[in-house]
Amino acid sequence: MAHPSTISGRHVIAGKSIADAHDSFDSHSPADRRQIIGSFPRGTAETARQAVVAARSAFFGWRRTSRIFRAELFNKLAQLIEAQVDDLARLMARECGKVVTECRAEVIEGLHMVQYVFGTGRMPTGQIVESEIPEKDAFVRRKPWGVAAVITPWNFPFAVPLWMIGPSLQEGNTVVFKPSEDSPAIGQKLFDLFQEAGFPPGVLNLVHGDHVVGEALVADPGVNCVLFTGSYDVGRRIQQISAGLHDRIVAAEMGSKSAVIVCADARLDLAVKAAVISAFKTSGQRCVSAGRILVAEPIFEEFSRRFLELTQRLRIGDPLDPQHFTGPVIHQKSVEKILSYNDLARQEGATVLLDGGRMTGPAFDHGCYVSPFVYRQEHRPGLRTIREEVFGPHVALIPFNDLEHAARIYNDTDYGLSLAVITEDYRTMRFFREECEFGMGYVNLPCIGAEVHLPFGGVKKSGNGHPSAAGLVDSVTHKVAWTVNHGTDIKMAQGLVAEI
Ligand code: NAD
Repeated sequence: MAHPSTISGRHVIAGKSIADAHDSFDSHSPADRRQIIGSFPRGTAETARQAVVAARSAFFGWRRTSRIFRAELFNKLAQLIEAQVDDLARLMARECGKVVTECRAEVIEGLHMVQYVFGTGRMPTGQIVESEIPEKDAFVRRKPWGVAAVITPWNFPFAVPLWMIGPSLQEGNTVVFKPSEDSPAIGQKLFDLFQEAGFPPGVLNLVHGDHVVGEALVADPGVNCVLFTGSYDVGRRIQQISAGLHDRIVAAEMGSKSAVIVCADARLDLAVKAAVISAFKTSGQRCVSAGRILVAEPIFEEFSRRFLELTQRLRIGDPLDPQHFTGPVIHQKSVEKILSYNDLARQEGATVLLDGGRMTGPAFDHGCYVSPFVYRQEHRPGLRTIREEVFGPHVALIPFNDLEHAARIYNDTDYGLSLAVITEDYRTMRFFREECEFGMGYVNLPCIGAEVHLPFGGVKKSGNGHPSAAGLVDSVTHKVAWTVNHGTDIKMAQGLVAEI
């Protein structure tokens, strides 16, 4: 069923729109799969090649512009975003199924990134360092790598691309942006805003499509940096292909099995609220969503009673209704994956506390709605459901005996992204900060809720040490040492003789 405002997508390469496609795909609303949000060309290896050539030829002119010129364009972009926050949020809610209030917060997060980037334009960069030789001045300066391929997931289709495109362009790189095939409309809209803000042709290029065009970008030696956010399996493949290319940076932000640790001294109201938000906001489809709530044994019964009570009150439904807490999951494949993990939990001996599953009824039948599945699981080696990312409303409550036990459980997954600790005790808080493997830690908060001026990234299978958002500047530039002699003769460091 086509909506009156169905979007006609196009690739944009060197400022030219390429709508023609031998092959195209539709973006559907996960709330009602009959609704088509837009139709988009499916990029090929040739599309990727052309986009990289365009970005490369724009690079030489772009890096000559001043940081402040580039920053001013981001200021214009910020104004354009600010004027359209609600429209952008509604489009995102229709395309991704996230509740419109959450989409609004994501647009604001993207706006914050643009404002942050604008602010860096007039900030000092680099360092002045001392030389052994008094006549020498030495500097550390940063230079852009060249062309960045930005490959992004559907679940944060506005903020995550801006985390990566923003620092890349501001530092003087040019970009080929490939949004997720599950959120191409919001990707298209974001690109159009950059164009309207006056970014010159070829500086940012847009290609639509799936793994075919994505992998062609990664394999192209003309790409200096691949800035990827998405699942571990895709991130690993990108790293494997990139290992064969010299001069290639990969910044990969990937999946997680994040957790909230509820200690025996926790304020229960706060703990329950933090745990529910961590587990079920965005239907558990944030990279930082908590698939595990670790609860101190003495308070387990009371905590789980209150957790279930609040979970059962969550309003799930139409993402355009701001009264809803959460909406559908992204697509049918995702529904099937979640249901299969619910079954696996039973096979692994879980005690099911809330038996979630596919939601039915007139409001749900055409969408991908799944209700929360909650179970008690004792920690033991080899259980897949408490180690692997499910990416849905599927959460294990896991009892622990003491702090050492809790840290062991937290670390017993291949991932390491986000951690929340609920405690009133500063020693306990510090213990988990030191003992757990994570990239983002929160105390007396949910394990979701990033801000752009902090680095965003994880360890182990969650990230390869190049955090996004403010942290990305280090990855999209390389440092150069720049030494200037103010004397009229040559003097060398380390006592090296300069007489000839
Ligand atoms: P995905 O890995 O399926 O897709 C991400 C992007 O990679 C898409 O644009 C896709 O087209 C592209 N892609 C797929 N195969 C490719 C290939 N072979 N070569 C190049 N590109 C390819 O992820 P998704 O389902 O869109 O998003 C969900 C995943 O993203 C979850 O695992 C979630 O945890 C993760 N995520 C991580 C973060 C983070 O910052 N750590 C943030 C958001 C989402």
